[in-house]
Amino acid sequence: MDEQVRVAVIPGDGIGTEVMEPTLGILEAVGRRHGIDFAWQHHDWSCEHYTRTGRMMPEDGLEQLAEADQILLGAVGYPGVPDHVSLWGLLIPIRRAFKQYINLRPVRLLPGIECPLRLKEGTEIDFLVVRENNEGEYSEVGGRMYRGTPDEFAVQESVFTRRGVERAARYALDLAASRRGSLASATKSNGIIHTMPFWDEVVHETAKDYPGVEVRDYHIDALSAQFVLDPGRFDVVVASNLFGDILTDLGAAIIGSIGIAPSGNLNPEGEHPSMFEPVHGSAPDIAGQGIANPLGQIWAASMMLDHMGHPQAAAELVSAMEATLTGGVRTPDLGGTASTTEVAEAVLQQVGSDD
Ligand code: ATP
Ligand code: MG
Repeated sequence: MDEQVRVAVIPGDGIGTEVMEPTLGILEAVGRRHGIDFAWQHHDWSCEHYTRTGRMMPEDGLEQLAEADQILLGAVGYPGVPDHVSLWGLLIPIRRAFKQYINLRPVRLLPGIECPLRLKEGTEIDFLVVRENNEGEYSEVGGRMYRGTPDEFAVQESVFTRRGVERAARYALDLAASRRGSLASATKSNGIIHTMPFWDEVVHETAKDYPGVEVRDYHIDALSAQFVLDPGRFDVVVASNLFGDILTDLGAAIIGSIGIAPSGNLNPEGEHPSMFEPVHGSAPDIAGQGIANPLGQIWAASMMLDHMGHPQAAAELVSAMEATLTGGVRTPDLGGTASTTEVAEAVLQQVGSDD
């Protein structure tokens, strides 16, 4: 009997819909080889849905998603709809309702991709960024006063809880222990004198349970510079919500294109569905042209397989991506001339070809 997996599919807007479609076909092919039977639950929730109905998703959207085992998201965003609508109307409610408190983003330079950095001979870029995904700087605490007057001001509070920091730290430490035993922690405790020293303290207290992992604090400014100057030094990086967001866009840039970078919003305990998405947005500038790179979405699908307990299937999918890239089938963002469909077809062939 095949394992049945219900996956909620939210293609979203723009290139989100273009990269999602072929990814589902690839997942079905991988699933057939590994005894996984996917049942897709399609949702047209998007900024387009918002302009029609005034909501990014229906009122019972979260209840509908709770029925699924996992969630696969394309990208949401549309010119004319402010970014905070898609963020606070869809992404943040999902991340919080399903306790997806880890945002995991691999930063790995795949073979066949030219790195935009001039690296020292022999440098390999292969690290994981663990972003705290539920609290920190993305809070609703704050407000504005005296609007439109010279005395106008705005306050935005960050909220860091011991539970929140500790579980992010623990997740990152577990990963580091299973890899090269090194954890970089992003901080700014010299300038941000309450929350960041607290972050550092909790990370180091948690690290006492991991004698085999070496933890090093980096101020976020210096850490950003090291991403560019010496990315080979990193194994696992742990960061707060905002710092992690910035670092992972930078991470996506140094691996050649934002079009290939994946991300998992994880509920590590598996009590709730996790959500997998490419790092990129809906890219209105290239939407409708059929040239979006589907590899970010496909890599996100591979992370989903891994999270579902199918590391072998996940690895096969990444190998298929690598073979496609080294075979020279690339979209224009990677300097190639292939279309979205051609890249996806090449991956599909690789997935089926290594018996
Ligand atoms: P968001 O606010 O949703 O992050 P954005 O406009 O900031 O959206 P993207 O939509 O990711 O960012 O687009 C940034 C740039 O990267 C654009 O020039 C876009 O064309 C390019 N880009 C993004 N994703 C891809 C992709 N899959 N393939 C090719 N180019 C892409
Ligand atoms: Mg963006």
